[in-house]
Amino acid sequence: MKNPHLTPTKPKEVLKYSYSQLNTFKTCPQQYKIIYMDGVRKPHESIEAFMGKRVHEVLEWVYDKDNRSKSYQTFDSLCKTYDEYWVKNWHENIYIADYRNPSDFYYSIGKRCLSNYYNKYGPSFDEPVAETEIELQFKIDNHPFRGIIDRLDNPGKGKWVIHDYKTSKREKTQRQAFNDLQLGLYYLAVQQNYKEIEEISLCWHFLRTGNEVLITHTQEKMELIRRKLTKLIKKINFAKKDENNFIPKESILCNWCYLWEECTAKLGKNLVVRAE
Ligand code: SF4
Repeated sequence: MKNPHLTPTKPKEVLKYSYSQLNTFKTCPQQYKIIYMDGVRKPHESIEAFMGKRVHEVLEWVYDKDNRSKSYQTFDSLCKTYDEYWVKNWHENIYIADYRNPSDFYYSIGKRCLSNYYNKYGPSFDEPVAETEIELQFKIDNHPFRGIIDRLDNPGKGKWVIHDYKTSKREKTQRQAFNDLQLGLYYLAVQQNYKEIEEISLCWHFLRTGNEVLITHTQEKMELIRRKLTKLIKKINFAKKDENNFIPKESILCNWCYLWEECTAKLGKNLVVRAE
């Protein structure tokens, strides 16, 4: 039977929080329940997510130890690496929500992202990189968290710049960056994991256009963000007292959700097409 309200299961405890968990709860509580409490995991992924991962991998490769020892990189070498990662990781569960676009369309967007980045930072890519794709453990009011930061730069003693790459269409403003919980989480993660901190800045790279947003938080602002995060965790923990609290929140984002068979608001499967 599909309706989980009739067959309550014992909620699984979330051992560590992450931004994506909090965001899933905010976007659709039912999706949160299906993934993080019922433990449903599917191999499905959207073509946008697939493309975003490949672009991230290329930018990680650009700053790996071997490449950083080179004086320059050609754009061709980035494209070749992108192609290799694209082919190597391709699988049969990649889906396109907008059936009017072929896979090539998304492949080209990835290339454009790399080209915009190359025009800004190539061919030398001599940024003061400390680490890339760093997994950090930290706490917010005793709640354990984990987060992965795309890149952390250390431009001077006590100075840290957290970089986050975005391949999605929607860009955010400086003001939105100031209130963004994900950037706030990264800030706390670096603050708790690194020594000699004088200043932490956060830089969002919107790769589709090459635009960037750079911000620095004050302690007062960070306190506000910390309170917002704690409030959200409390809300999730309160909701866990009764499974009926995890109501489906239908939106355009349902088109990119592959849990229609488990969702109480949907009938049948998501009608997305398989990417070829
Ligand atoms: S299909 Fe929509 S309402 Fe249902 S779980 Fe997914 S996002 Fe939520």
